[in-house]
Amino acid sequence: MNFADAVISITDVTARDGFQMERTWIPTETKIEIINQVTAAGINRIEAAAFVSPKKVPQMRDAEAVIAGLFRRDGLTVAALVANLKGAERALAAGVDELQTVISVSETHNLKNVDRDLDTSIKEIGEIASLAREHDRALNVSLSTVFGCTYEGTMPVEKTVRVIESLTNYGISTFMLSDTIGMANPRQIYDHTTKLQKEFPRLLFGLHLHNALGMGLANVLAGYEAGIVHFDAAVGGIGGCPFTPDAPGNVCTEDLTFMFQEMGLNTGIDVPRLVNLAQKIEALFGRTLPGYMMKAKNVSFCD
Ligand code: ZN
Repeated sequence: MNFADAVISITDVTARDGFQMERTWIPTETKIEIINQVTAAGINRIEAAAFVSPKKVPQMRDAEAVIAGLFRRDGLTVAALVANLKGAERALAAGVDELQTVISVSETHNLKNVDRDLDTSIKEIGEIASLAREHDRALNVSLSTVFGCTYEGTMPVEKTVRVIESLTNYGISTFMLSDTIGMANPRQIYDHTTKLQKEFPRLLFGLHLHNALGMGLANVLAGYEAGIVHFDAAVGGIGGCPFTPDAPGNVCTEDLTFMFQEMGLNTGIDVPRLVNLAQKIEALFGRTLPGYMMKAKNVSFCD
C-alpha cells in the first residue's frame, strides 16, 4: 500500500465487507461487474473478496472466480481478506496483489471472529507474513474493535499498542484501524490515531470505519486532521461484520470522496460514476442503502 500516491487514498471494500453480509446470493458475474465499475471510477485499491470458510461466509465462496474475472488495469491493487494460512494460500494461488488479514484488539471479539485467542492469532499472522514474503506479496493487517467492542466496551489505545508491537516483529508495517461496530467518536479517533502515529512513526495507518451513529464522516475528518490519509469505504455505505451483532454499514465511498473533493483534496475518483453504481446496487439489493450522495437531488457535478 502506498499512501504517497494521492493526497487521499481509498480502498473500496464493497465486494468484501459490503457483500459478505448479504444473504441473497450475488452471482459471480455481478460481483465482477460491480468491482470493475468501482475501479473504472478511479479507485486504485480494492478488497475484492475474502478467502474464508464457505460455511461461515457463504457469499464469499466464489472468491477464486471473482479474482480471475477482474479487469486488472495498470495501477490497480487487488487485495483480499484472509483469516488463516489456508485462506492465504488460496488467495496467493488466485493471484491477488496483497493480502489483508484481521485480528481484533478485543480478545472476546477475536474469538467470535476467527475462533482463536489473541496469542494464537498473532502466531498465525506470523506464518501468513512468511508465506506472503515468499511470494513477494505485502500483508496488511486490519485491527478490529480498536475503538470499542460489543463485548468489551470502549477499548483503551494501550491494547492496540500491544497487538501492533507483537505484529511488527513479523515485519508488518501497514495497519487499518477498524471501528468495527461504529461506536467511535471524532475525539477518540483523533486521540488514538495521534498516539499510534507518535508511538510507531515508521508504520502506516489507515482507518476502516463503520457508520452506526451517523458519525462516520466526522470520524474520517478527525482521522484526516490527525494525519491519516488512507480510508476504507464501500459504495452506497453497505456492509458489516457477520460476527458482530447488528453490525452497521461502512462509511460510503462516494460520500467520503465527495467530501474530500469539496474540500479541494485530490482523490482522482469519479463521484458521479460511483453514485450511478450505488443506485444500481440499491436496485440489485431491493432496499434503500445508507449513502447520501445517491439520494441528493440538487447537487451539481459540473466543475
Ligand atoms: Zn468492516
